[in-house]
Amino acid sequence: MSKKGLRIVPLGGLGEVGKNMTVFEYGDDILLVDAGIMFPENDMLGIDYIIPDFKYLMDKRQRVRGIIITHGHEDHTGAIAHVLEEINAPIYATALTRGLLEVKLGRAGLQQKAQLNTVNAGDTIQIGAFKVEFCHVSHSIPDCVALGITTPAGLIVHTGDYKLDHTPVDNWPTDYAKLAEFAGRGVLALLADSTNADKPGWTPSERVIDPAFDKVFEEASGRILVATFASLISRIQQVGQAALKHGRKMAFAGTSMRENAKMARKLGYLNLPDELLVSIEDALKMKDHEVVLMCTGSQGEPSSIVGRLSAGTNRQFDLKAGDTLVLSSHPIPGNEEHVYRTINRLFQRGAKVVYDPISPVHVSGHASQEEMKFMLNLVKPRYLIPVHGELRHLHQHSVLAQEMGFPAENIAVVENGQAIEFHGDKMELAERVPGGYVFVDGSRVGDIGPAVMREREALARDGFVLVSLNVGANNRLLQEPGIVTRGFVYQQDADELIKDTREQIDQVLEKSNGNLQQDLESRLRNFFYNETKRRPMLFVMVNER
Ligand SMILES: [Zn+2]
Ligand SMILES: [Zn+2]
Repeated sequence: MSKKGLRIVPLGGLGEVGKNMTVFEYGDDILLVDAGIMFPENDMLGIDYIIPDFKYLMDKRQRVRGIIITHGHEDHTGAIAHVLEEINAPIYATALTRGLLEVKLGRAGLQQKAQLNTVNAGDTIQIGAFKVEFCHVSHSIPDCVALGITTPAGLIVHTGDYKLDHTPVDNWPTDYAKLAEFAGRGVLALLADSTNADKPGWTPSERVIDPAFDKVFEEASGRILVATFASLISRIQQVGQAALKHGRKMAFAGTSMRENAKMARKLGYLNLPDELLVSIEDALKMKDHEVVLMCTGSQGEPSSIVGRLSAGTNRQFDLKAGDTLVLSSHPIPGNEEHVYRTINRLFQRGAKVVYDPISPVHVSGHASQEEMKFMLNLVKPRYLIPVHGELRHLHQHSVLAQEMGFPAENIAVVENGQAIEFHGDKMELAERVPGGYVFVDGSRVGDIGPAVMREREALARDGFVLVSLNVGANNRLLQEPGIVTRGFVYQQDADELIKDTREQIDQVLEKSNGNLQQDLESRLRNFFYNETKRRPMLFVMVNER
């Protein structure tokens, strides 16, 4: 790149909901904003989560001057340990976000290595060529910030996740005055949250949830279980208030939620009196109508408490008749089918399940269309880069801006890996860098590529067939071939199919005078497809003596 321009490279969150990560680059200095994960889609079998591909930074890691985390949600913090293993730059975050990072880094054994710095909304710090101002925004977790980044090329505003909630749970609304002040100085480009770009109107305040929870607590005669993200601190506060009002004790099931709540209480972001809280062990001994249990797993993740409850594999306790289970979150786009299947299974196990279309037990933490327009009018950027959303959200954000008279050529709808450069006050698309998925499977990172995913898909869909042969001279069979199938055909059809497979093998043995293994593979592949219209994974092992 030319040394003089400002370059912005989105490495995550553009073209998807999750794993947010953006690179700001000027001359020799690089600033990284957010390091999130994304939850796998249904067809990504055996994958725990996905992190951004940050290969782009590998040969520039010495130039990364700082990492800013805008707030404590997983889609902004979840990949921090993976990033720190490669890039040891100072991290800047507000107190609650820092606390949540510490919990996460502690688990990865990286707390010593991390250089954590606490910042406050209203602070200004210099990170290399970037003067960063932190501006408070409301969302669904306290202590979120938008960023005003003054670069030699101009002022860039990054909203982070936000909504314009006048009555947030922590009574700290978005700092409109600061955003207007940015506008007064002239904003070159705005990177703005697009998650709800297809939702008309204004996202309701978090306060609308209070009456919905009140109703749940009034009506439930048995235990109440509330499932949400472990980092949704505001929601934990609201459930705590309902529990106080209705005389129930509150317990946290699951380590991540318990650790997050402990840390948020210590820092003063969760206001829950000691006498409200009991351990999960004690809660399970109390009468059903005396307790509310906070659980992880609102997305039905198999390893979460709710995932295990739905499958009947939770060790500490089971669902029982009379339980009311509240799912206080929306399915992440792409995850709907899985969440609804989990809800069905929870009903099957005897719980009454309360979820959003049934009762307003969740509101979005993201701005809807009118708020997005408000943000544009407030910040008055020259250029708009829609971020945080699938491609349809980014496009819809662009349409909204154009309806307000924003020129189309001043909007960059781009996906991960598309670099954007500013020369003078001109915005240009530069080259594409890698910006795909890195799959994390158990403790292994990145060695699960698309080829492995295709194999897992094929195995899950059509099963496998194993054929083993011992052959001597002139392709003569030394013993009966071994043919094993799993997950491919019904047992009663298998005998017939194996008999026919045996004939196919004989024909190949007779004719083949080249590569026996290859000939067998191509013949059997066609044969299986013609017979069954399915494509099982095929393993052919030929032992030639
Ligand atoms: Zn968020
Ligand atoms: Zn987010």
